[in-house]
Amino acid sequence: MDVEPVRVRFAPSPTGRMHLGSARTALYPYLLARRTGGTFILRIEDTDQKRFVPGAEKELVEGLRWLGLNYDEGADIGGPYGPYRQSERREIYHQHAWELVEKGHAFPCFCTSDRLEKIRQEQLKRKENPRYDGTCRKLDPDETRHRAAAGEKYVVRFKMAKEGYTTALDLLRGAITTENQALDDSVLLKSDGLPTYHLAAMVDDHLMKITHVIRGSEWLSTFPLHVNIIRAFGWQEPVWVHLSVFLKPTGKGKMSKREVAEAIKDGHSIFITDLRDLGYIPEGVLNWIVLMGWGVSEEDVMTLDEMIARFDINNLTPSPAAINFAKLDHFNGTHIRALRSEDLAARIKPYFLQAGYRVEDVKLLKIVPLIRERLVTLDDCLPFAAWFFKETVEPNPAELVAKNLTASQSADIARKTYEILSALPEITPELAEPPMRALVEQLGLSANQVFGILRVAVTGQSVSPPLFESMEIVGKKKVLERVKRAIEMLEKM
Ligand code: GLU
Repeated sequence: MDVEPVRVRFAPSPTGRMHLGSARTALYPYLLARRTGGTFILRIEDTDQKRFVPGAEKELVEGLRWLGLNYDEGADIGGPYGPYRQSERREIYHQHAWELVEKGHAFPCFCTSDRLEKIRQEQLKRKENPRYDGTCRKLDPDETRHRAAAGEKYVVRFKMAKEGYTTALDLLRGAITTENQALDDSVLLKSDGLPTYHLAAMVDDHLMKITHVIRGSEWLSTFPLHVNIIRAFGWQEPVWVHLSVFLKPTGKGKMSKREVAEAIKDGHSIFITDLRDLGYIPEGVLNWIVLMGWGVSEEDVMTLDEMIARFDINNLTPSPAAINFAKLDHFNGTHIRALRSEDLAARIKPYFLQAGYRVEDVKLLKIVPLIRERLVTLDDCLPFAAWFFKETVEPNPAELVAKNLTASQSADIARKTYEILSALPEITPELAEPPMRALVEQLGLSANQVFGILRVAVTGQSVSPPLFESMEIVGKKKVLERVKRAIEMLEKM
């Protein structure tokens, strides 16, 4: 177990929506930070202007806050190692790129994009991997300094060793050794003066004193370059953790755009703010996500605090994880059932308000125990319980007719029901259920037939929370009004 307080970061690029992959890349370092009493940092990596999506940073921050993954330093809250938005650190990268040039580990490259494209095509024709051909590597350092200072357009490239091997150590995968001649002279600083990820992330991780880099496995291919950059600066390497990939529900390959869209139609999503809007709760989403890549039992139900208490970075696994929405539903329902009544009431109240109902808190608190077992998502509260807040309900006359009985037989049962209920001092399960069961016996019918009429009459729907408990909340006066109305409707049929 890590006992030293770590400094870890979540470093998203604002290039799209926050999905479960990004949430997991944030969650593990968060857990590690909280487990060790360390620091969790949000760094915005916005140096790729072509892929920049306005609003993406806002969605990320919203997603993190909703999940409860609060950061200690970050773009919008500052901190001792800021700024935390890379576009505001341009000068720092420029200096560091030139530091590597001065040290002989990088070089300015003046090749035009036309020329580079031509080499690329030739290499492809020869069935070689496209790579920089080394032209500017050989230029005289004084000359390159002058040309750059004179305003000629250039990029800075890393001067990769031509011989030998690079061994990089990933905590989950062990040592990864690559032949240096297979590595390219990658661009560190672009001609627009902005850094590539390779330079910016390494510089920032160093300056921000990051102890553990936890990131997506898409960075494994450039991992050898990254350790070479850090070694060229003479810095200490962080602990590297490349997480597992997510596979589509069938377990074969990644989810395509079309499959993502289909999941949304189905009431699921891979996007965090969508999940929120679909009625999932952070506890359920986090539990679902945390198990995709952590070697503990896939059945384990945990709150965020419990995750922190149990988290051990050494138990993360590199095996791919298939996205399973049924598990999301399972965890969400489980965490909803575990909420205190007041908490659940507060979380479902907005759904009723948004649907235009006036909600009395005392009543809502009584409803919660009747529906909590049935909720998979918070918005399920509407079909089950919105009728509680209606002044009058509108039963479908056809539904008032009990199975295998006629409308007039059903009216007869409703009249008998009215007699029984109106004779009671009040309607509670204890007082109302025994005489109603006796009626079922006496008529030789099924409880479903008799209670079905009453359920549709009182709730306006054929599926509802437990009937007698519900009637207690509705109150005797309204129950009787509704049964009377049902009798009239049945008599007219
Ligand atoms: N900006 C990178 C990304 O979004 C971050 C990778 C990292 O964590 O270093 O993929």
